[in-house]
Amino acid sequence: MKLFMLWDMEGVSGIVCREQVWFWEEGVRAEVAEEGRQLLIADINASAAAALEAGVDELIVCDTHHGGGNIILNQMLQDPRITYLEGARGYQDGKLRWMPGLDETVDGFLVPGHHAMAGTTGAFLPHTWSLEWADFRVNSRSIGEMGIEACFAGHWDIPVIFAQGDEAACREAEAMFPGIVTAPVKRAVDREACEGPDPAAARRLTAERVAEAVGALRDGRCRPFQPTLPMTVSVRMVSPEQAEVVAAKPGVERKDEYTVEFVAERHCDVVGWIVAAGLDMEPT
Ligand SMILES: [Zn+2]
Repeated sequence: MKLFMLWDMEGVSGIVCREQVWFWEEGVRAEVAEEGRQLLIADINASAAAALEAGVDELIVCDTHHGGGNIILNQMLQDPRITYLEGARGYQDGKLRWMPGLDETVDGFLVPGHHAMAGTTGAFLPHTWSLEWADFRVNSRSIGEMGIEACFAGHWDIPVIFAQGDEAACREAEAMFPGIVTAPVKRAVDREACEGPDPAAARRLTAERVAEAVGALRDGRCRPFQPTLPMTVSVRMVSPEQAEVVAAKPGVERKDEYTVEFVAERHCDVVGWIVAAGLDMEPT
């Protein structure tokens, strides 16, 4: 069994404030950012160990938060079955693409460390990809980052088996991915703070649920996320200026002042038309 674990950071065990995770913002203290990074590393190590313990033969761990670069390789669990990706873009068969290694050989897709979609109430740092996107819809249904990423994985019929994050993120995952196992490790107090069990307890819950998700995959309880094709993908931007920039891209239609639309023929094209995240990308 081969799994692909796509790690964001807002939903990690013990990360409870904006400063620990949006470390590029002005005024962030280095020691607080480092706390967040260590919590991410600890969560990844606990989850990877749980997956291997549950019998996974191959595991790809991908660090995607803010373009990646958050993990520290010599602090990661060392095991020949694990491949670490220090960013979500890389080369496979000589081609630049999103999530290299995610292909028909992968049996299950996991989205730990995630957050709820833009506009979600009672959620910690809800957003969808960019703060410039107010609403991202596929076939008229709003989806968040977990949905976008799972749709990309749907190109290879890969079931979505696990999500971890605050309670709002887990509710979103459960509503979108039937059969998924979730690890709600905290609840939002407001948009920029949350509370929950201490990090060690949250990590234990996460590890248990990862093992449970492996079992759910084995039992055939999980499904790929595959909206009906061709997909009408529309994005309501925060400003008309942003909509204008996107509308200049090939194949994109401007629907109104704020909204742009694209028709995607494949699940892997869900987001590649608007940002550099797809297959066969232009090398940079
Ligand atoms: Zn993130």
